[in-house]
Amino acid sequence: MNEAVIGLTRALLGFNTMNPPGDETQCLHWLATFLTKNGFNVQLHQFGENRHNLLASLPGAAAGKPLAFTGHLDTVPLGNAPWQQDAFAGEMVDGKIYGRGSSDMKAAIAAFIIACIHSAETIAAGSGVVLILTGGEETGCDGARAMINDPLITLPQPGALIVGEPTANYPMIGHKGALWLRCETKGKTAHGAMPELRINAIYLAADAIGKIRHFDPGPPHPSMKKPTLNVGTIRGGLNINSVPDHASFDVDMRTDPTLVHKSLSQRLQQHLSDTVTVSTLIDLPAVLTEHQHPWIQRVFTLCAALHAEPLEARIVPYFTDAALLLDAIGSPPCIILGPGEPAMAHQTDEYCSLARLYESVELYQQVIEDYFLLGWAAQTRF
Ligand SMILES: [Zn+2]
Repeated sequence: MNEAVIGLTRALLGFNTMNPPGDETQCLHWLATFLTKNGFNVQLHQFGENRHNLLASLPGAAAGKPLAFTGHLDTVPLGNAPWQQDAFAGEMVDGKIYGRGSSDMKAAIAAFIIACIHSAETIAAGSGVVLILTGGEETGCDGARAMINDPLITLPQPGALIVGEPTANYPMIGHKGALWLRCETKGKTAHGAMPELRINAIYLAADAIGKIRHFDPGPPHPSMKKPTLNVGTIRGGLNINSVPDHASFDVDMRTDPTLVHKSLSQRLQQHLSDTVTVSTLIDLPAVLTEHQHPWIQRVFTLCAALHAEPLEARIVPYFTDAALLLDAIGSPPCIILGPGEPAMAHQTDEYCSLARLYESVELYQQVIEDYFLLGWAAQTRF
């Protein structure tokens, strides 16, 4: 089993799926063939030139909802710092497998696929497994969004969803939402030597940023703490000797499930007055499953053996495809659980610990066996 998961991880790392520019075609075509050979039904979904998602399933004989796994095949670019290791060779040194996308999150995808293949009999006797494999996640869940919006795609309605993003095999019950907004100001241009004649858009933007520092997105949430707001970029002006007629700055808000993004952006618009135009860049809702949910409790029990300290209800700091997928697949309980090291995501010389990788194959297998043996799929609350 260890050899199988290493082989599949290295094969996936060998494809350059960096996004931007984004190209999952070769990787997902190869994976479609691999999955077909191993008994899966597969459906490739194209959402642009060289852009692909993949749906795969192992059907089951029993009634009830399938268990779902999801992961993204695209990775972030290599970054500016030089790598000591080959980013695409899957080199293994000192108990680590190196490569862009190892922790985030090709190792996890390899692990849950190998776990499904090893549990194929249980799955066939149960209610089946579905894999939702996406491209375009790193630029704001573009692949998942395209799949949800495509009328030709029928998404599965699983009884539970596992997102294999990097958690070092720690079960996480959700993540904050992300609302990215662009705020624009418009002025009237003039020669820089006669500014009194016109309106300076940069001054308007500076006033707005002054106000935004006093904007409170909402009170602390019991599991997610305080929602946050950050102005991440600012642009404006063409040359030093003109009064600028346009400026803009972008705002990144991280929210909890009680905050409705539409009303939040309306509130911000009112706070900034109509000298500023607020538009949405990315809108991803928060994900949170109750810690007390019986399936979540089962997964926590299975994970507990792998961690020295008692497990707590925690959330991950990043967003995932689950933000969009959950609503489209019937809002099942969702856990974020993967072998990757959270601190390694997007880093130079990214690696995944081999021990965590092997552990995750067993853990995913236990989750699969547990799901079917305890009949979670058949229970009405799913
Ligand atoms: Zn990721």
